[in-house]
Amino acid sequence: QAKHSGRNQYRRFTAPLRDSAQKRLDLLKDLQSALETGQFALQYQPIVDMQSGRVHKTEALVRWHHPERGLISPGEFIPLAEDTGLIVALGDHVFHQAARQLAAWRDTLGTTIDISVNVSPVQFKSDGLRPQAWMDTLRELGLPGSAITLEITERLLMEIDDQTRIRRQAFQEAGLKMALDDFGTGYSSVSYLKSFDIDYIKIDQSFIRHLAPDSEDLALCQAIITMAHHLGMQVIAEGIESQAQHELLRAVGCDYGQGYWYSRPVDPDRCAELLKTMQSGGTLLPTADKPDQ
Ligand code: C2E
Ligand code: MG
Ligand code: MG
Ligand code: MG
Repeated sequence: QAKHSGRNQYRRFTAPLRDSAQKRLDLLKDLQSALETGQFALQYQPIVDMQSGRVHKTEALVRWHHPERGLISPGEFIPLAEDTGLIVALGDHVFHQAARQLAAWRDTLGTTIDISVNVSPVQFKSDGLRPQAWMDTLRELGLPGSAITLEITERLLMEIDDQTRIRRQAFQEAGLKMALDDFGTGYSSVSYLKSFDIDYIKIDQSFIRHLAPDSEDLALCQAIITMAHHLGMQVIAEGIESQAQHELLRAVGCDYGQGYWYSRPVDPDRCAELLKTMQSGGTLLPTADKPDQ
């Protein structure tokens, strides 16, 4: 009897595991062709100036529209793309798509909006990544390097080698900016901040989620902001979902915020509308928070 129930338990625990391994294999197979058949699209999420409520940049976030499975989140397929090396081609696609979109917005809307693009450590370190090709694209589109911010993670900083440093320098000479994404979730030493010449620190959403007055998380945010400002960097808080979080962070001098409270990631058309609203003096602070006009 005990043996029997033990086996049942065994089956109960392995079936989901087997399913997820199978799902992974299926996705892996589909990933190869997804790029060629144009199944990847970008959404854009505003990064908002906390004082003025105006859009500072937008972050490009990749979406996979799978013909059978529907929308698949990057959390699911970016790791697969990294394992297979496809991340290099996918990352190139994202960069070029985002740059073209940015040039189009600048032309049609007459804004000076900038854009942020995520770069995986695997992609950053790959021989397949060619900074010169990216610069050529920017030049053809008439975009200054400073219009582009590359979002990297602590994982990259922990594995810096000569190649990585040379790449960093090439991007820097072209004027691109660097943001350190998901700050506080890795194990890197803060000394890396200096050696890699970071422009923005993005405080990970796990520090924002339970933000409250007098909380440890708020103390940590405050310390990060103070440190960043002393090092000449600016701070973006990720995952702001409430006015309370916005107010607390603004009060401790956080420069920029990103999160559902301002706007979810949106399709290019919707983003163009948001940018148009900015052009006519609008802000992304929900009305309750706006000063009387
Ligand atoms: P990330 O770069 O840290 O992007 C922020 C993630 O938080 C996005 O998830 C965004 O939709 C989500 N988010 C924004 N505001 C809120 C909020 O208020 N509450 C909550 N709960 N979530 C919020 P998404 O789009 O699913 O992307 C997940 C991760 O996948 C990204 O994290 C990034 O690491 C990676 N990723 C996305 N696009 C790309 C890409 O083009 N290339 C690479 N290499 N990685 C990408
Ligand atoms: Mg990011
Ligand atoms: Mg992040
Ligand atoms: Mg994240």
